[in-house]
Amino acid sequence: MIRHFVADQYVKSVFEIDLEKLWESGKKVIFTDLDNTLVGSAVKHPTPEVIAFIKEAQDLGFEILIMSNNNHKRVSLFNKDLSVIAHHKALKPFKVKMGKVLKHYNPAQVVMIGDQLMTDILVAKRLGLYAILVEPIELKQDERRTKINRRLEKIVVRSLKKRGLPVPAHLD
Ligand SMILES: [Mg+2]
Repeated sequence: MIRHFVADQYVKSVFEIDLEKLWESGKKVIFTDLDNTLVGSAVKHPTPEVIAFIKEAQDLGFEILIMSNNNHKRVSLFNKDLSVIAHHKALKPFKVKMGKVLKHYNPAQVVMIGDQLMTDILVAKRLGLYAILVEPIELKQDERRTKINRRLEKIVVRSLKKRGLPVPAHLD
């Protein structure tokens, strides 16, 4: 169970991800969280950097899907300038919704990117996906539920450390 909180890669931001290397390793599909992973939670539209990142991934051949726990309004407005497949209310860390989407893909080819151990990494590992944890972009604007998750994260990090498992640098 505690191993479900261990990501396969820890990076500062999505822009540090080596997309070419991922592609060469056999990954073909990217599930990405939105808030604090692609932009801060108060940023309504993708930044030019995010648009370039998505474009770079698509040019390599990746299929991109946004998997957000946020509501339809937030996700659809953000996705207007991207037009990727976007799921709102993804109910991470529960497997139901993402599991359904995953039926259309080979899980061995799917990467999940997110900023939270309690939602993004946990659901990814429960579904057997390769997981990349990014440092959250903007902590201050976190919603209350996210704040609770951050507190739980600290508890998880303590037990990871106790077991000698990898701990994300920004949570150490
Ligand atoms: Mg997030």
